[in-house]
Amino acid sequence: MLFSKVLGAGVRSGIRLQSSGAASRSSQSTAAGYSFELTDQQKEFQQLARKFAREEIVPSAAALDRSGEYPVSIIKKAWELGLMNTHIPQDYGGMGLSIFDNCLVTEELAYGCTGVQTAIEANSLGQMPVILAGSEEQKRKYLGRMTEEPLMSAYCVTEPGAGSDVAGIKTRAVKTGDEYVVNGQKMWITNGGKANWYFLLARTNLDPKCPAGKAFTGFIVEADTPGIQIGRKEMNMGQRCSDTRGITFEDVRIPKENVLIAEGAGFKIAMGAFDNTRPPVAAGATGLAQRALDEATTYALERKTFGKVIAEHQAISFLLAEMAMKVELARMAYQRSAWEVDQGRRNTFYASIAKAFAGDIANQVASDAVQILGGNGFNSEYPVEKLMRDAKIYQIYEGTAQIQRLIIAREYLQRFKK
Ligand SMILES: Cc1cc2nc3c(=O)[nH]c(=O)nc-3n(C[C@H](O)[C@H](O)[C@H](O)COP(=O)(O)OP(=O)(O)OC[C@H]3O[C@@H](n4cnc5c(N)ncnc54)[C@H](O)[C@@H]3O)c2cc1C
Repeated sequence: MLFSKVLGAGVRSGIRLQSSGAASRSSQSTAAGYSFELTDQQKEFQQLARKFAREEIVPSAAALDRSGEYPVSIIKKAWELGLMNTHIPQDYGGMGLSIFDNCLVTEELAYGCTGVQTAIEANSLGQMPVILAGSEEQKRKYLGRMTEEPLMSAYCVTEPGAGSDVAGIKTRAVKTGDEYVVNGQKMWITNGGKANWYFLLARTNLDPKCPAGKAFTGFIVEADTPGIQIGRKEMNMGQRCSDTRGITFEDVRIPKENVLIAEGAGFKIAMGAFDNTRPPVAAGATGLAQRALDEATTYALERKTFGKVIAEHQAISFLLAEMAMKVELARMAYQRSAWEVDQGRRNTFYASIAKAFAGDIANQVASDAVQILGGNGFNSEYPVEKLMRDAKIYQIYEGTAQIQRLIIAREYLQRFKK
């Protein structure tokens, strides 16, 4: 596993002991006030993820983009090194790292390829409802399994007719004896064809007047349950090696033991997961932007026009300065949002700011990188056109750029009125 390899045999268990959520959180929350210094342990996580991304992901990224092949061997290695499931509590075999620490790892993986990072991150999204709302037995069974072998999970909420408007989903679960019978269709499910189990949100109260906070239920569903039909892999603009699919549920029987908390609690569980998963999504967008900046800077220091390297033309150096400003601020935004939730505080405001800002600047910075590379930037021999395509999804999934602004405005106005 990762930490024993990098830090020496037997050290992993030591790291585990030190890296429980609580321990990690306290390392970020000393009473001394602000600190922008990572702990030694966080630097180790970051370095390890950085090395892995540079050595294992970067060299394969272009080929995976071309083939759309799911990065099985990279995921396996990441799992072996402990770079996946970092947030699963130690009681269930995970590292029990904080969201902050998870974000540090995510940024580095995204630097290598955000298709790979999204496949890994979707695991966290699928698991988060179970981490936050699962019973002891559910956690032991479904989270424990992920740490015993490299399995994937998925978060099944969006439907063909409802994405932003989650309360508009139509998949129904009807209680029959000790089971729920599910019918409906999900869409755009990352890891849809690879998951061992799904978090599923379905409507259990069919009265249209029932408020969202009571109408939906969250379930854990084994992916091989009869009646589940997995659609074809979608061909997306970017992040092509990630697996996105529609999933149809036809008379799928789920035992009542797989309900999270209780009937009617699903909407809050599904939405609550985002406070923990938007910071890592923002970290992913930041990693992509950092990569674009690095590629553009390297090129600008080599390419000559009019007798000097283009980095010496003020227009290009100012563009690089703007890109650097954006990357630094996106990083601070995701770190703040992660730190807030690690303190046990409601971080919805900060998580949406980080997700919206990092998603936007990833697109701007990737586009500017293409500009700096000129004609080469537009060509697939260079990595930046892929970065530009990959960046777009950060303004769409886990709540679009517009939905983040709705949340920020709501949270901000509530604070202002207090
Ligand atoms: C590659 C990929 C992976 C995904 N992975 C998952 C996954 O693993 N699990 C999952 O459940 N879902 C997943 N999604 C779904 C994703 O979260 C949704 O696509 C997203 O939330 C937007 O929903 P929509 O596509 O239905 O767009 P819509 O909700 O129809 O929105 C269309 C446009 O209208 C805007 N809009 C909507 N409502 C408002 C409003 N009130 N005010 C202003 N503007 C508004 C939106 O911002 C957007 O620009 C994924 C999607 C993609 C493309």
